[in-house]
Amino acid sequence: MRQLALIAHDARKDELVAFVEARARMLADAAIVCTGTTGGRIEQACPDLRIERVKSGPLGGDQQIGARIAEGRIWAVIFFVDPLTPMPHDVDVKALMRLASVYDIPLALNASTAALVLDSGLVERELARDREAGEGVLS
Ligand code: PGA
Repeated sequence: MRQLALIAHDARKDELVAFVEARARMLADAAIVCTGTTGGRIEQACPDLRIERVKSGPLGGDQQIGARIAEGRIWAVIFFVDPLTPMPHDVDVKALMRLASVYDIPLALNASTAALVLDSGLVERELARDREAGEGVLS
């Protein structure tokens, strides 16, 4: 099952948590992958969501998610970035964005774009795709 990647820099974590809480029902059946700290915050707020946590962003989490994009395992990336703070792992963030472009994966860097992406019917289409793939394997 392909995953939705959810990431937020520290200054944007509250915003992402509120964004996901408002869509918890829509995301109930989605497989989600988060960088470490972001995932911990979302798990606390939405314990029923299916969240896998990789490493924290500065410790390689963004690169882990980038690798999954290259492997075809991610269907969209929601990454609430902090444009006002220098980050030690800026190159990792850029690499993740680059791979989303290379593989033409929807990539939202702020709440307004993320709303357009998730409220477009994409979540439902992705879940339907998984169901069809599952039936294909069984039949
Ligand atoms: P974090 O990583 O969720 O572990 O804070 C996000 C990032 O800084 O890229």
